[in-house]
Amino acid sequence: MAKIQMTTPLVEMDGDEMTRILWQLIKDKLILPYIDLKTEYYDLGLKYRDETDDQVTVDSANATLKYGVAVKCATITPNAARMTEYSLKKMYKSPNGTIRAILDGTVFRAPIMVKGIEPNVRSWEKPIVLARHAYGDVYKNVEIDVPGPGKAELVFTGADGTEIRETIHEFDGPGIIQGVHNIDKSIESFAKACFEYALSLKQDLWLGTKDTISKTYDRTFREIFENIFETEYKAKFEEAGITYFYTLIDDAVARVMKSKGGFIWACKNYDGDVMSDMVSSAFGSLAMMTSVLVSPSGVYEYEAAHGTVQRHYYKHLKGEETSTNPVATIFAWTGALRKRGELDGIKELVEYADRMEKATLSTIESGKMTKDLALITTLSDVTALNTEQFIDAIADTYNNL
Ligand code: NAP
Ligand code: MG
Repeated sequence: MAKIQMTTPLVEMDGDEMTRILWQLIKDKLILPYIDLKTEYYDLGLKYRDETDDQVTVDSANATLKYGVAVKCATITPNAARMTEYSLKKMYKSPNGTIRAILDGTVFRAPIMVKGIEPNVRSWEKPIVLARHAYGDVYKNVEIDVPGPGKAELVFTGADGTEIRETIHEFDGPGIIQGVHNIDKSIESFAKACFEYALSLKQDLWLGTKDTISKTYDRTFREIFENIFETEYKAKFEEAGITYFYTLIDDAVARVMKSKGGFIWACKNYDGDVMSDMVSSAFGSLAMMTSVLVSPSGVYEYEAAHGTVQRHYYKHLKGEETSTNPVATIFAWTGALRKRGELDGIKELVEYADRMEKATLSTIESGKMTKDLALITTLSDVTALNTEQFIDAIADTYNNL
């Protein structure tokens, strides 16, 4: 069979450790046999990031802005131990943080559902996609440990010198204070990315905040979403047959637990941090969680939600067998290739992505899976395969679909 041709290159961001091994296996066994793959390659492996003083990460993000679609392998975020391990020149920032800042994007996390790996919440039939605002609030806070009696005030000094002043509390003993902020522009980008992504998935969008208590701060989130929806998206949503729905965060949590799934849940930064771990663990496994960064201008970067699976990599280096789950990384590739196909009008590329995802899920449903899934599956006749055997089994299913 002739290989599928591409017109625009995908931005390919290679990464680290066990996921770098998976990356090559997936390309060799699941992509290159079927697609005349066109990518612009960036090596985000820690060694090359260090050699280029992290310029490669910036370049890869700029290339994503240029071409519109990227696929990224998991990468190491350096800490003290990694500084020594890789003799780094400096402690580089998280590549995901750098890329997110350049694309001004929002991260959407979605579980991959498959028969045999059942959600812990019985009513969930479809994935719940979690959108987390990735700027400000408690993550950019300023705190004071109040030593004793005194008055705490909130003061804003305008560029023209005008002051706004509020009393926070009159302390008669020790206590604590926290100052947090956000920026309208960042909330607007978040809102647009959410509306764009809801349209692209044709799924309802929910937003929950605590605007009954936080009458200025949280209400600003609610109002910005509402204004943008009314002026730019209402008609498009109606046409797509989807809705935008605002409710209090506690009501949202209650509704989520009773829902069937199949919608996007937009959360403020802290809520998103907490709720994404709840949603992903309730759906089964981190290795079955995909992630896509969407910019307000409609640029997409696909990746797996998990890290570089370091422990498996060290086993691999010792020549021991590994059973690392490649599913989220495969879906990052198929997600990116499908989007490329949609944007360029290449139907074969979209069909390839659908078929490869189907082959991956059918392989698992037939009882062949990696160890992490074998431990939690409800299927009875199960074979736990090693990393390479599982990828081979998917190729086999694909060829026989
Ligand atoms: P991790 O790589 O996600 O792995 C944590 C544990 O989860 C693994 O040890 C493994 O458990 C299990 N696991 C995760 N993915 C799996 C898969 N595909 N198949 C089977 N098991 C899987 O997180 P980490 O160990 O905390 O971080 C390792 C490195 O990844 C760090 O350097 C961190 O900076 C980086 N990281 C990168 C990203 C990213 O690029 N998006 C995200 C998170 C972390 P068992 O060992 O019990 O089998
Ligand atoms: Mg967290």
